[in-house]
Amino acid sequence: MALVNTTAPSIELSVVVPVYNEEVSVASFLERLQEVLRSEITTFEVVVVDDGSRDSTWSVLCSLKPLYPRLRAFRLSRNFGKDAALSAGVSKASGRLCAIMDGDFEHPPELLVEMLQAYRKSDANVVDAVKTRAAGESAGNRFFAQLFYRIFRAISGYDLEGHTDFKLFDARVREAWLELREREIFFRGMMAWLGFRHEQVHFTVPDIEGRQTRWTRPRLFALAIKSFTSFSSLPLQGVTILGVVNLLFAVLLGLQTLYTWWRGGAVEGFTTVILLQLIQGSTTMIALGIVGFYLSGVLREVKARPRFVISEQLDRS
Ligand code: UDP
Ligand code: MG
Repeated sequence: MALVNTTAPSIELSVVVPVYNEEVSVASFLERLQEVLRSEITTFEVVVVDDGSRDSTWSVLCSLKPLYPRLRAFRLSRNFGKDAALSAGVSKASGRLCAIMDGDFEHPPELLVEMLQAYRKSDANVVDAVKTRAAGESAGNRFFAQLFYRIFRAISGYDLEGHTDFKLFDARVREAWLELREREIFFRGMMAWLGFRHEQVHFTVPDIEGRQTRWTRPRLFALAIKSFTSFSSLPLQGVTILGVVNLLFAVLLGLQTLYTWWRGGAVEGFTTVILLQLIQGSTTMIALGIVGFYLSGVLREVKARPRFVISEQLDRS
């Protein structure tokens, strides 16, 4: 039996799909995906990672396995978050090319064909599916998304606006990505950091009825902070700059106070004292907070826990 495995034909494309509570759509999604792939590629595999779903996603996958020999499914022991699930899938993928995409129809499987063509036509190692602005997006969401991308670009130097976790890349990129050892994963950012030649295809996110994003504002805020701290140490240096500005201000005010004292007019200036207290106090707090974000990031990395834990799998036998 082992002989059969080692001589198995090499797989051209692995499609990695993280799913979390997708019992309603996972079957139809896989159906559509396989339909698209079958017409385009001879050997492929679909690597589905169930990110600790609380609904019946895993049983659906178990029931689908006999129908789709090209399906490989891995179940994480709990919900580790999409980026960790992606990382699990990418580490299991064995194709010469690897694609990652959402399993909720927001990334149309048909676009994979266009991405494959873009890959073959160019000398790029990565094809990024970039989304054009969704029509139904609320003004508030758009504002915060743009704010995030602007800050991210300003402090890290990478422009990720419109970038998604819908990508196609070759084995060289996959191997390089697997070399990155950090625990805190921001897939898109790490892909940008890796470099290589990128090609883009554009798409509009289809309007899916009744679908709501799981990304509430507080979760997005936490994600933004994590992305900033893991991709730039500029805020930490900002703390030092703030300190220097404060010091200059203090020296000037000190000189003025001494001068007033020398001229014999003291006591006045309570307002200044109160204002100074407030400004100094709050800047110190903010500075400590920023240091705290980095410290907790360092702590998480130092613990070096695995990125994910697989509890069950439906793999090639
Ligand atoms: N997902 C996941 N783990 C999570 C949240 C989401 O694997 O903790 C999957 C989800 O099933 C979907 C994809 O990641 O296939 C995108 O998730 P979602 O639609 O919630 O995010 P959005 O499209 O709003 O960015
Ligand atoms: Mg979605």
